[in-house]
Amino acid sequence: MNPLVNPNIMLPFIKSYLIERNRIERMNEGQLKRYKDKLLRRMVQYAYTVPLYRRKYKEAGVHPEDIKGIEDIYKLPFISRQDLNKDFPDGIIPPSFNKNDGYIICTGGTTTKYCCNSGAQPVCIYTDALSLLKGSIITFRSNKAFGFNWRKTKFAHIGNFNPFKYDKVFEKNIISPARRFFSFKNYLSMQASNKTMEIIKKLENFKPDVIISYPAIFQDIAYLKRKGYGREIKPRILLVGGAMLDEYTRSYVEDAFGCKMYNTYASCESGAEIAFECKYRNWHIHDDFFHIEAIDEDMKPVAPGERGRIVLTKLWGRGTPIIRYTGMNDWITLGNGEKCSCGLKSPIFGRPVEGKISFNIVLPDGQIIPPSRFLFISEILLNLGTFKVKRFQIIQKKIDEIDILLVIDRDLKEDKPSFDEMAKRIKERYLKETGPEVEINVIEVEEIKEEISGKPAPILISYVNQDKCVI
Ligand SMILES: [Zn+2]
Repeated sequence: MNPLVNPNIMLPFIKSYLIERNRIERMNEGQLKRYKDKLLRRMVQYAYTVPLYRRKYKEAGVHPEDIKGIEDIYKLPFISRQDLNKDFPDGIIPPSFNKNDGYIICTGGTTTKYCCNSGAQPVCIYTDALSLLKGSIITFRSNKAFGFNWRKTKFAHIGNFNPFKYDKVFEKNIISPARRFFSFKNYLSMQASNKTMEIIKKLENFKPDVIISYPAIFQDIAYLKRKGYGREIKPRILLVGGAMLDEYTRSYVEDAFGCKMYNTYASCESGAEIAFECKYRNWHIHDDFFHIEAIDEDMKPVAPGERGRIVLTKLWGRGTPIIRYTGMNDWITLGNGEKCSCGLKSPIFGRPVEGKISFNIVLPDGQIIPPSRFLFISEILLNLGTFKVKRFQIIQKKIDEIDILLVIDRDLKEDKPSFDEMAKRIKERYLKETGPEVEINVIEVEEIKEEISGKPAPILISYVNQDKCVI
């Protein structure tokens, strides 16, 4: 049955759409807290019907009645990626959940072995049509902040449409059935692994106002735009997610497209956008849909303003509950309650998300550096005022060996600065940070090897194990 003609799905969705779209802007702090308390109580009760959660809660000696509100969340045990994997499929949903009406969504995982030498196992969860629809309400909210109208603004989404990926599941089960009622002529989706020239041709025909994709895809398109292709692609805004965006890539892309680029922060497990970057470049958290904690390596909470591992609690949705989930593996910094000058009331992160913990750089002296703090290359290239690097990647191969791969724009090869000059500056800057015991190799390559998961390769990878690594 088309979920969009099912009143048990559509009536709650319409109600949510009307009430929840602007909810966070209407509520004061006290109201928001009470509301989140109520949602958490409900979610914990729901989770207690799920074998994995019931077992973990019993082991921890905690019962749903012990959870009165967010201040009690610390009583609940953490749920890791391995926990979800071990109990998949029947242990991560309530016995009453009808798998035939649900959908499986999986994270990409990676072919790269990193983090405790375990490799990043993909994780799969269950969701349903109403949860997918509710997740889209959050997108309406950030769209409104940017002044988009979902019926009129033309969106082009270049994502990961492989089976079991969120983009594919949403398109197949929500967008496609919705085409019976709406033309969706203003929505174009494309596979990110398609050839860049094909993507450009489609974008040029479609003429989007908004393009949504990964940083590396934007960079590849921007490169060809610089060569004179895709002249008719003139978006008003670019929304980027799924990977860390560095300042060089941002400038490179914004310069080529002639418009601004903003981050969105989501995951397969969250089932929706968790936060988005506004025009003031602050990251607003959808705090009425999620509760976010930051913890240190001993799994203890860190204070606002301090960097910690994200712990995600999803306060809505059916299928697999996500409560105190540690598997997202990102560095975040919670804000201290300061509001953004853009006028939105939602809380903001203290700093932008700083990349995957599993890709931390580990130095021989024991220093551990988050990925975003090791992107000196961006600063160097911007200071040199050059756009001749069309992609780069930093790979920590061993504790004392780091390769920095540069793909050079051939047409600009003879332009100043020369490759040797750039390489010298990059090497000097990195040696200053790492100390002379680390070998820094700046290497020109033809291309960056992409992941096979359907997502472009990250700009920084570390193969060095770290202690206390929880994924
Ligand atoms: Zn703002």
